Amino acid sequence: MSEILKVLMLEDVATEAELARRELIRGGLNIEVSRVETRNAFIAQMAEFRPDVILSDFSLPGFDGISALKLARDAHPEIPFIFVSGTIGEETAINALKGGAVDYLLKTNLQRLAIAVRRAVDEARGQAARVRAESRFHDLIEYAPHAIVVIDQHGCIDIVNAQAELLFGYARSEMLGASANLLVTTASAQWHVLPPDSAASSGGTVSFELTAQRRDGTRFPAEISLSRLQTADGLWISSVIRDVSERWAQQERLLRMTRIRTILGSINSVILRVRDKQTLLDEACRIAFEQGEFAGAVVGVRDAETQVMRPVAWAGVDEPFLHALELIANEPVRPGQGLIGLALRDMHSVISNDIGSDPRMAPWRSQFLERGYRSAFVVPLMAGEHPFGILALLSEHVDAFNDDEQHLLSELADDISFSHDFIAKEEQINYLAYFDSLTGLPNRALFLERVGQLLNANASGAQDHLAMVLIDVERFRHINETFGRLAGDELLRVVARRLRDSLPDAGYLARINADSFAFIARGNCDAVDVAALIEKDLAGVVGEPMQIRDKSVRLTMRAGIAMYPIDGADSDSLLRNAEAALKDAKIAKVRSLFYTADMNARTAERYSLEGRLRRALEEQQFVLHYQPKVDLQNGRIVGMEALIRWNEPGVGLVPPLQFIPMLEESGLIVEVGSWVIAHAHQQYQAWSAMGLAVPRIAVNVSQLQIRQNDFVPRVLAILAVGESSDLEIEITESLFMDDNDPNVSRGKLAALREAGLTIAIDDFGTGYSSLSYLARLPIDTLKIDRSFITGMTSSAENMAIVSTIISLAESLRLGSVAEGVETIEQREQLRLLGCDQMQGFLFSPGVPADVMAGMLTLQ
Ligand code: C2E
Ligand code: CA
Ligand code: CA
Repeated sequence: MSEILKVLMLEDVATEAELARRELIRGGLNIEVSRVETRNAFIAQMAEFRPDVILSDFSLPGFDGISALKLARDAHPEIPFIFVSGTIGEETAINALKGGAVDYLLKTNLQRLAIAVRRAVDEARGQAARVRAESRFHDLIEYAPHAIVVIDQHGCIDIVNAQAELLFGYARSEMLGASANLLVTTASAQWHVLPPDSAASSGGTVSFELTAQRRDGTRFPAEISLSRLQTADGLWISSVIRDVSERWAQQERLLRMTRIRTILGSINSVILRVRDKQTLLDEACRIAFEQGEFAGAVVGVRDAETQVMRPVAWAGVDEPFLHALELIANEPVRPGQGLIGLALRDMHSVISNDIGSDPRMAPWRSQFLERGYRSAFVVPLMAGEHPFGILALLSEHVDAFNDDEQHLLSELADDISFSHDFIAKEEQINYLAYFDSLTGLPNRALFLERVGQLLNANASGAQDHLAMVLIDVERFRHINETFGRLAGDELLRVVARRLRDSLPDAGYLARINADSFAFIARGNCDAVDVAALIEKDLAGVVGEPMQIRDKSVRLTMRAGIAMYPIDGADSDSLLRNAEAALKDAKIAKVRSLFYTADMNARTAERYSLEGRLRRALEEQQFVLHYQPKVDLQNGRIVGMEALIRWNEPGVGLVPPLQFIPMLEESGLIVEVGSWVIAHAHQQYQAWSAMGLAVPRIAVNVSQLQIRQNDFVPRVLAILAVGESSDLEIEITESLFMDDNDPNVSRGKLAALREAGLTIAIDDFGTGYSSLSYLARLPIDTLKIDRSFITGMTSSAENMAIVSTIISLAESLRLGSVAEGVETIEQREQLRLLGCDQMQGFLFSPGVPADVMAGMLTLQ
């Protein structure tokens, strides 16, 4: 043994000490000896010499072995203490060993000394190592970053560390010895019993999650790793416990986000399908509740007029709660203090992530909590700039709505808003298509449709007699002109209201035309009932005086009636016949007339187109509009064309294509054509007299007119009044082609030219005039037909035709006019091609004479 063993000897007899020293050396120990005799020296040497072992005599002068042992045990318990003494009693020996001595030897029997010392020292060193190991183990547990709880085989807590105290909120003393179930919820009890075949039972570790419970009763998700400690004392279970709330929250949040994304997707697909608002909102709530796993979803919509918010769609909430919500939203005492009010006022989403402690929720807290709603999210639904309602989502979790969710849910609200708005607009459009916006009554289309349905239903059932009544407000146009449109509108609204209020069945009341209404009188009514209704009730009601601009106006009405089924089997013919009856009533100046079968024949005669045109001529119902022709180089008005219109009373301006053919067919065109020429001439004179620089006015002349033998003298007679060079005659190519003797027509045109008129070929390009023929005609201008102009910028062929006509005109020294120019592109092309003039909507359509005069003044 190379190591030096320090031996402190408490021995008053030096030789005895020497004997012991020799014995130790003889036993193979490498020793250094220090001998002391007194108490003080003993104490001092224990500290200074730091012996590995103490050998002590039992009796010393002024000191004794037992006291020394006590001193040594107190000051240096790690140093083994051995008695080496003369004979002592058994009792004393036992006391010595109880007192902490490791051995006892007799001076008479020292050969065991070396062995005893070696064993004592070895043992002491082992002990120290064990203590060090124990304290290392202790530190390891104590300062571990996680809570550690060691449980004995009875399920009681044996060791806990600082983290465990922190985590569970118990003092160490409260935990030690208690059942391990103290730390978990009842549901998780017995968690510390290892399953027999688990990894942990064979030395490994087994991990699982359970719900742990703190001293204050709060709970948290915990991850537990169990491992078994098999010692001589038995089986121990060590558990490392970690709070995984954060991780769970993270997972939970991820899950929620996924769910919200799913809702978004589902709602967007609903938006594509659904065409009415209620279904949209119902679906939105259902999806939020079912797929989003919210505890509840409610949509409230605010009445536009009263501003009262009503729940209109919901899922997962009960009726009393809806009622409570309604109160919250419309709370008169604290307006806008609740989440709903806030959301509406700030037009921004509002969150309460802990209803239990949110002061804003104080007045309604119990309503929410008793239903398990712990968080709420309210987002306004917007129609453009204005909130029309809210979407409220409820969750049973605290902190259910963080930024991410808020963002996604606001997007969701936007989608719902957009679609709601879209449907509303669509409904509005449908509404406008079927309702008269002025009176709110169905319009003609809806009336006919509904009457059609009524008749269909009737056809299959009992043969009800129905009457269709058409009512006309007399002199409405006059009132409109006298008092202005606004007054006219108001008047119609009043009439509509009066009719609605006094009809027994206003469901079939409609506004048919500007100043006429129609309704169906039902309920097996016969002609007598209907006549009575009109004469007694309606006439009186409609005729009641009304105030317009401080004036009292009394309206009169007339009615035409058609009976079902005798006067017509469908809504169209009934209305037509009621109209015929109304016309007759007006002519006869009676309040009302029933339709009769022979009425049609008479009306047909009276109102035949020809008859009406004849009368139009007699009553001067024709008017001329004027369309300017413009110089393509400088943009000035260099000509104009007179275009005829028929101002038919009760109909309005009728375009020429609807009546010229009839005028030609009936020969009336000759008369009307003369009127046109005379009227255009007069207009020219009148404008000139006003000091306007009037360009030539072109008039359209039908072949039928020209073919009249007296055509030329007739025209000249008209023009003889005043100047004669003011007109241009527009004729079509076909005049020459269809003519038996084209030379006659040519002669007539030549004669007119002599008299100072000019001649233009209208609609040029549609006929098949040959070049040589054209060259011999007494003409001045070619008007390129509108069909070519329309197609010129898109069709190369049309462009070629236009360009050819222009160069042809140039080579024949004829002017060229492009008809029907509607776009800037066409104008620019024509300018490049060298066309002289253009005429068309781009510059102006045909306009009344006064408008034309205005244009001329401006140049
Ligand atoms: P038209 O002689 O070819 O007259 C030009 C027609 O084209 C006019 O139609 C005019 O309004 C229309 N128009 C002018 N610029 C444009 C445009 O840029 N785009 C389009 N889409 N149309 C344009 P309106 O006034 O309906 O006259 C139709 C036809 O009736 C005339 O065709 C003419 O043949 C005949 N007509 C008009 N007035 C009289 C008349 O007093 N006597 C005779 N016999 N016929 C007439
Ligand atoms: Ca023309
Ligand atoms: Ca034309």
